[in-house]
Amino acid sequence: MTFADLGLSTKVLKAVAAAGYEKPTPIQEQAIPFALQGRDVLGIAQTGTGKTASFVLPMLTRLEKGRARARMPRSLILTPTRELAAQVADSFKTYGAEHKLTMALLIGGVSFEEQSKKLDKGADILIATPGRLLDHFKRGKLLLTGVEILVIDEADRMLDMGFIPDIEEICKLLPFTRQTLFFSATMPPEIQRLVDNFLHLPARIEIAPPSTTAKTITQKFKMVSADPKTKRKQLREIIGTLTDLTNAIVFCNRKRDVEILFRSLKKHGFNAGALHGDMDQFSRTKTLEAFRKGEITMLAASDVAARGLDIPEVSHVLNYDVPVHAEDYVHRIGRTGRAGRKGAAFTLVTPEDAKALKAIEELIGKELSWLGEPPSEADFEQRPSQNRRRSEGSSKSNSRAKSRSAQTKEKASAKSSRTKNRNTTKKTAANKSAKTDERNRRKTRKRSEQPVVGMGDHVPAFLMRSVRSL
Ligand code: AMP
Repeated sequence: MTFADLGLSTKVLKAVAAAGYEKPTPIQEQAIPFALQGRDVLGIAQTGTGKTASFVLPMLTRLEKGRARARMPRSLILTPTRELAAQVADSFKTYGAEHKLTMALLIGGVSFEEQSKKLDKGADILIATPGRLLDHFKRGKLLLTGVEILVIDEADRMLDMGFIPDIEEICKLLPFTRQTLFFSATMPPEIQRLVDNFLHLPARIEIAPPSTTAKTITQKFKMVSADPKTKRKQLREIIGTLTDLTNAIVFCNRKRDVEILFRSLKKHGFNAGALHGDMDQFSRTKTLEAFRKGEITMLAASDVAARGLDIPEVSHVLNYDVPVHAEDYVHRIGRTGRAGRKGAAFTLVTPEDAKALKAIEELIGKELSWLGEPPSEADFEQRPSQNRRRSEGSSKSNSRAKSRSAQTKEKASAKSSRTKNRNTTKKTAANKSAKTDERNRRKTRKRSEQPVVGMGDHVPAFLMRSVRSL
């Protein structure tokens, strides 16, 4: 199967050839023909499978005909993070090199004014994070009734970050007759509910997760001390043995540990950078750019900050912490060994990680390979979760760390940075109304965390759908 067999336009084929792609990836091969027909698509696939091109290429082909009107985008792509939004925008630039389509990017941490100007000029493609999109909409800067194609990217990450009520709100503002292309790496019940409510007879395409595909990644585990200082020393010792290391991402579960590790790596002479959810957009982009260029070779990062990032040629992934969720392990190690290259992942394991480790072993479906002596059961403490581990910092922050999971903290930080961004804008009447809306959205979010009884307050999808004329 070649790209030409998929029915893409000549302009798109030219750009794909210029990008150096020889043949479509499985998700592209399966999703593109349905997307070109105007069908809804449910793509269950991870980053690294080529899923971005699987929606960008057919979108470009379909948007070739027609023109955007002021404030009325013709297509909308929703992503959970600013970084992912920026990456999708880059893909449009690469694959749309032969087109004259206009694009606007609505993400937090960047001035409203510039973004509004772009909307005023008319955008064929609008790429946005949900909160910023709703803020623009509430300010009357945007009409969503002209959207022909909606893409929801990394829906499960949206769920993790508390964006589902926003997504539902946005979907209700769009025309019924739009096409929806929906991507998620996993399908928890809340995501399935969203699919049932907002997609119309979708073509379901499921691509094997990297856990079964990443055969090029060497995965090693190492038993280390739970004491942070000793653990950092043991990390450095491992790094010292890696003669083939060109660059690495070092994942921590908590953003505070990202900072501590970053400073420690720098102190010990490493060319290090940090990436976590509390950093402003400017610093994140600057760090990422430096990492891409090789100016930084060791990037300490948290999961939320690193999710969805397209950083080619990472030689090593170092898990300073065993991730709380097994899927995050798969996602983290997927940063290396991409596109058939060789990669290596090392995970530091402490006596408190038994449960998380077992989940990883089950998910990847193979026995773990250890550096040094494999631990025995007696080496692990009988504790339910590594989140309970005592860590550096004041006793007050220690008790907080015990009561909240690392991921909840990262989520809170994503929310608080969104709130901070809003607070810096002028307090106009429109802004006040945007804040009220945000409060309402938070209330809805809280409500959505309650267990649903029966059908809850959800109207079944078949009652919501309009009848399509042929
Ligand atoms: P994604 O899953 O969209 O994050 O894509 C992962 C990486 O694969 C990106 O660096 C793309 O540039 C690359 N890629 C996407 N499609 C292809 C293809 N058909 N052949 C080779 N590389 C590709």
